[in-house]
Amino acid sequence: MLPQPTVEQALAAFTLPEKLGFGRISAPVMFSATYEKGEWSEGRLIPFGPIELMPNARSIQFAESVFEGMKAYRVPPARPHLFRPLDNAGRFARSATRVGMPAVPESLFLAGLDAVASACADFIPTRSGSSLYLRPTLFSTEGGYDVVNSGAFRFLVLASPSEPYSSGPMRVRIERDDVRAARGGVGAAKTGGNYAAAMRATTRAVADGCTVSLWLDPQQRQTIEELSGMNIFAVIDGEIHTPVLSDSILPGITRDSVLRLAAHSGYRTVERPMPIAELLADIAANRCSELFASGTAAIINPIESLLDADGRQHRPGASAVALRLRQSLLDIQEGRAQDPFGWIH
Ligand code: PMP
Repeated sequence: MLPQPTVEQALAAFTLPEKLGFGRISAPVMFSATYEKGEWSEGRLIPFGPIELMPNARSIQFAESVFEGMKAYRVPPARPHLFRPLDNAGRFARSATRVGMPAVPESLFLAGLDAVASACADFIPTRSGSSLYLRPTLFSTEGGYDVVNSGAFRFLVLASPSEPYSSGPMRVRIERDDVRAARGGVGAAKTGGNYAAAMRATTRAVADGCTVSLWLDPQQRQTIEELSGMNIFAVIDGEIHTPVLSDSILPGITRDSVLRLAAHSGYRTVERPMPIAELLADIAANRCSELFASGTAAIINPIESLLDADGRQHRPGASAVALRLRQSLLDIQEGRAQDPFGWIH
């Protein structure tokens, strides 16, 4: 291994670039803890850099890994705000349990977030929509070609000063061929393999001028599920509709925030199975006035069109509801508005 700088040297050497993008710039420090013989070590802050891992580690071989995505906001003079960290802690634990890994204790999870967000406080970007993206990650470090759960794990909290995922309305490609997650499978867990399953479709979407894929249900491919890294909403007859959760949909924390914010703002919200044919007909009949995506990275982002496999574009046209909800959410996250939900830590 190359000689590593100290945490202080790594922080002092870092300057925030003008252009950030989403998830491209790595913060100079990370939090690290290990699990062996049934015990978690105390975590500590270390410089961000390469780590040593056996090439037969089951995290590499079998995607024995789970992660989270969340954000810290700079709200001077207070310490960095975290948005709903206990919800991420809970989902992280459920993801780990689903793939047979030990859950990271909530106190260790929060200690990691606090350590990284505090160390990076001075370079959390302040332009609205920008933040410090945090990526808690848990993966096995034990080597083995046998398909059994490992006994050794590492927990890292990585960070990236970031702009929003998308800078404007998104185009989305309806994926009619591949499926992302199976009934009874791991789609509701934030585990690496789900994202591998989505990559080929993402490449097709990007080649067709879109940002992401819209996934359909794995059995019939008739109802809409979610996007590759976001949940989806439709405004239909002035109501806010979203697919009901299932074991093949990631339960987004932003999705839940949208439902609660929308109800709080007087909208009727509906969680139900949403057939793709009906949605396209509702767009054509102007009953569906807008579509939007929700996610930590995307915040709340209008979807301008759905591209189907036959090359047809379906355009709902409006974006007012999405933009209003986005502003309300950012006002809470960035400390400009009261937080009636107790979301800020
Ligand atoms: N679906 C998938 C597949 C995702 O990866 C994400 C991002 N975590 C979401 C939905 C949105 O979840 P959240 O609002 O918690 O970021």
